[in-house]
Amino acid sequence: MAESKTNLLGMTREALEAFFIDLGEKKFRATQVMQWIHARGVDDFDAMSDLGKALRAKLKDVAEIRAPKEVYHDFSKDGTRKWVLEMDGGGKVETVFIPDGERGTLCVSSQVGCALDCSFCSTGKQGFQRDLSAAEIIGQVWIANKSFPPRTNMGERNITNVVMMGMGEPLLNLQNVLPALELMKDDFAYGISRRRVTVSTSGVVPGIDDLGEAIDVSLALSLHAPNDELRNELVPINRKYPLAEVMAACRRFLARHPTNSHRSITMEYVMLKGVNDTNEHAHQLANLLLDSGVPSKINLIPFNPFPHAGYERSSNNQIRRFQEILMAAGFVTTVRTTRGDDIDAACGQLVGQVNDRTRRSERWRAARIPVEGIDAEPSSRDHTRSTAR
Ligand code: SAH
Ligand code: SF4
Repeated sequence: MAESKTNLLGMTREALEAFFIDLGEKKFRATQVMQWIHARGVDDFDAMSDLGKALRAKLKDVAEIRAPKEVYHDFSKDGTRKWVLEMDGGGKVETVFIPDGERGTLCVSSQVGCALDCSFCSTGKQGFQRDLSAAEIIGQVWIANKSFPPRTNMGERNITNVVMMGMGEPLLNLQNVLPALELMKDDFAYGISRRRVTVSTSGVVPGIDDLGEAIDVSLALSLHAPNDELRNELVPINRKYPLAEVMAACRRFLARHPTNSHRSITMEYVMLKGVNDTNEHAHQLANLLLDSGVPSKINLIPFNPFPHAGYERSSNNQIRRFQEILMAAGFVTTVRTTRGDDIDAACGQLVGQVNDRTRRSERWRAARIPVEGIDAEPSSRDHTRSTAR
């Protein structure tokens, strides 16, 4: 029965090695099988031609490679790709690929829904359904990766960056997020560099410490407000972990990997008209970050509206002014580009009528979504350019 089989998709190299040793096999089978699964996108043991017939038969008996079910996908002309994936039990999440020159960023979900209820986030409005398993998280990368024709040149990748900015709060599902991050970085799987794997958090302080202790990846903090009073309202988890504590956790995070002293944390800031977007807020934000001692880059995200959101997107002029104040204070500040006003395809608010595929498909085609600035590591060209329209 399928349920009793071990799903190899979400297993790290270490876990796979233990699995093969348990089977009475040599450890190196793990890296062989990892390459088949992840680098070549294979889910059929019979296709693994460098494994003996007996081993393939044994694997078919006890194991499987099972990804979430693709219920919908759309590949747009500009290269953006989107998938709606159905998990066991019926919950759905979305995964989005955003190309930008040489960079290809995949936005990955960690939970179905989210418990943290940020006031401007449609995932939050949906409530929490469940954590994704490691296989369901890495399965998003697996599905996206095998949608591309294989690259012929060694070392070239279609997915160069992964951001955990889809549905859910990754630091509240670290147990399953961690093995998936390991696989993203593993040379026998996706081989993405630590600086190009970014975990975005709303500020779960113990999770920031646990992440830093467990793995070397980049961190993005969803800041969204320059003081506790406003942040309590927009990002309710701030009541539990106020700004001073979050900033201290960011300092600890960066200090854990001193060899990477060039690194910084990306501060995400959603631009909500009349709420957090005044010049005064920009000055406060600059002071907060300067006082915190956390080397920071800032990514301004024009708010993506959704029905009954109760917020509006800041004007392009105000976004530009806000950006200029931060840049004058010395911060690399990018503005995430959105094309059109479609809403629910953008990272951070992946939700909605996922069953109503036709309608979504039309809207998706009509609108497209962000194409740059999503990454914690903007290219030099992004540093200076204001992308606000
Ligand atoms: N839970 C994590 C990661 C997922 S959200 C976090 O909060 O960081 C990814 C990003 O999208 C966050 O910065 C989030 O605040 C932002 N986001 C959520 N809803 C949004 C909206 N309607 N418009 C623009 N950005 C939004
Ligand atoms: Fe959850 Fe992030 Fe949305 Fe907040 S912004 S509700 S933490 S997914």
